[in-house]
Amino acid sequence: MRKQKITILGATGSIGVSALQVIEQHSDLFEIFALTVHTQKEKLLTLCLKYQPKFVVISDELSADWLKNQLDMNSKTEVLTGPLALSEVASDSEVDIVISAIVGAAGAIPTFAAAKTGKKILLANKETLVLAGKLFYQIVKESGSLVLPVDSEHNAIFQVLPSQAEHIKNIILTASGGPFLQKPIEQLEEVTVKEALNHPNWEMGAKISIDSATMMNKALEVIEASWLFNLPANKIDVVIHPESIVHSMVRLIDESVLAQLGVADMKIPIEYCLAYPNRIKSGAKELDFECMSELHFMKVDKKRFPTLNLAYQVLEKGLDSGCILNAANEVAVDLFLKNKIKFTDIYALVVDALNYFELEQYNDLETLLYKDNVVRQKTLELATKNFN
Ligand code: NDP
Ligand code: MG
Repeated sequence: MRKQKITILGATGSIGVSALQVIEQHSDLFEIFALTVHTQKEKLLTLCLKYQPKFVVISDELSADWLKNQLDMNSKTEVLTGPLALSEVASDSEVDIVISAIVGAAGAIPTFAAAKTGKKILLANKETLVLAGKLFYQIVKESGSLVLPVDSEHNAIFQVLPSQAEHIKNIILTASGGPFLQKPIEQLEEVTVKEALNHPNWEMGAKISIDSATMMNKALEVIEASWLFNLPANKIDVVIHPESIVHSMVRLIDESVLAQLGVADMKIPIEYCLAYPNRIKSGAKELDFECMSELHFMKVDKKRFPTLNLAYQVLEKGLDSGCILNAANEVAVDLFLKNKIKFTDIYALVVDALNYFELEQYNDLETLLYKDNVVRQKTLELATKNFN
């Protein structure tokens, strides 16, 4: 059988690295076509030497020139840069699979390019669906693209989803609760960046780690689930499960509950999507039931995690509210990471941005990305005005 050719968008990230680890174990099935990064040129050089992709993409021209100089004249790898390059390597006719693992709305344009050209898309970049889920699925329907969820909760649901939609009562996304599940609420204001980045179960990039600490990650995931599984807000629940062993559940109309379990390792969902509908080894550790004495489940405390409500508001209001939520959150998280605002200001700033903007209709991604930009500027202004 011909090897499947893969483009990884965001190859130096936490998901990108896990994906490469799975692919490496199955070099008889897959080969790397293109790898893209934002700034990490040294890491990209190492990846070029190891995988010899046909193309690599790096965001700025100086880094691209540096990389070209480092690569041997006989290197098979072509170095690309510039705004169109990401979409080119995501939509190239040679590519079979695109792993969408850029963080933030920056991942939307190349993910759309992959969808337009009917690729099999392994979707980690949940922001694409929060920003533009409706448009994305219009395109997916037209092109016949296959979208598979990498996000562990959605992957779990996908693994156990019944074939008949009318059998689903609801889906239950599990949430670890992040590093501040037990911290007294009045102390949340003063938590440091280092504490917020310190997720108890998962090793992830900075943005999603902060989103997990505020529970905005689960809010984004509720919206993501609504688009992926075509479910209304009232069929999507969230339960806290601090051990991150049960990755999510589907409750059926006869009160059976189906769950997927496993160690907290993104190689499992990535493997499932890569091989789907087959299964191959992921390289993750075995789940050891003897070491796992207790599993806990509890209700989400909305006072501790007010962000979760925002997902349900966005699903109810529709229009471009997801775009506003996502852009304001990206700005707020960035300001927190730079020590410019407090941890609790993240939620407050996102709410200020949501309250500021009128919701609008949109018919294309360009309109949404224009709004995304406007929201980012305004959120920065609001931060200076309200949180200094
Ligand atoms: P990381 O921050 O670890 O990696 C992000 C990747 O995207 C890096 O390769 C980075 O390049 C690249 N990148 C960042 N900004 C840009 C940009 N503006 N243009 C082009 N490339 C860019 O993120 P994660 O791997 O943690 O997350 C990636 C996506 O997957 C997110 O949407 C996240 O929500 C989702 N996800 C992640 C999970 C996880 O376990 N990490 C679990 C479920 C979903 P460089 O390294 O050069 O900066
Ligand atoms: Mg998740």
